[in-house]
Amino acid sequence: MKMSALVFLWAWLGFQPVAWAKVRVVTTIETLAALAREVGRERVEVRSLSHGYEDPHVVQAKPSLVVTLNRADLLVYVGLDLEAGWLPPLVLQSRNGKIQRGQPGHLDCSTAVKVEDVPSAPADQLRALGDVHPLGNPHYWILPRNALAVAKRMAESLTEVDPSGADAYQKNLADFARRLAARQTEWERRAAPLRGVKIVSYHKSWSYLAGWLGLQELGYIEPKPGVPSSTQHTAQLIGLMKKQGVKLVLEESFYPHNLAKLVADKGGARLAVLPSDVGATPAIRDYFELGDAVITGLLE
Ligand SMILES: [Zn+2]
Repeated sequence: MKMSALVFLWAWLGFQPVAWAKVRVVTTIETLAALAREVGRERVEVRSLSHGYEDPHVVQAKPSLVVTLNRADLLVYVGLDLEAGWLPPLVLQSRNGKIQRGQPGHLDCSTAVKVEDVPSAPADQLRALGDVHPLGNPHYWILPRNALAVAKRMAESLTEVDPSGADAYQKNLADFARRLAARQTEWERRAAPLRGVKIVSYHKSWSYLAGWLGLQELGYIEPKPGVPSSTQHTAQLIGLMKKQGVKLVLEESFYPHNLAKLVADKGGARLAVLPSDVGATPAIRDYFELGDAVITGLLE
């Protein structure tokens, strides 16, 4: 059959020629998936390996995640050891050369941001003590400045794996940046009354937010990130809260509420359970809804 006849048959059968295959992006957390959708839009198919209501430090390494990674064109993760407990063996088992370290399909988003709380002690020494932030604080993605930096880096990676989409990625990124700037101004205006408010948090995951909105962080229920509290540490923290007039205790919904509630009650503060990721509740479907929910949660 001649080519023209094939094309005719194709059209007659009602098939639409596929303009391009979608770029398959796999992220570790839902916020990164949401940002990848902002930058990639119709050119990408995005999946997150974890849900926003799970603790990203301890995701269950199911075999289905290996299959998802096997098909990925681009792996996007938070880095700084956040996923160290579960991601590396999955990436290895995926046998997908495109997403291994050093390849264009491997994106560690922490390389795009200014990392805070970088410890002076060697990482291995801290890991041995149970510290899950041995390379610095990995909970950077709620900060608008960091979300934009990550989105920019995503546009670069997507362009590398899909060069024909370069213009589309730049256009989408510019649109995201414009909407983000407007929302950031609104969030800062709403959160202005919180400036100077003293807080304590369960895990060291709100430091970037505290720095941005001017909250004063005075302590953590976990003595070290990832290390459960002791009776002695809890008692000292409650004493400090009373002395300093701490108003708020912050924690994510996946941490145990009993202890945080007890610390808040005894320390004379209120407990605010906040979403830290897109998908933490069904109503939080993108980065903007996450920002709204965090600010609303703090003000309530
Ligand atoms: Zn953490």
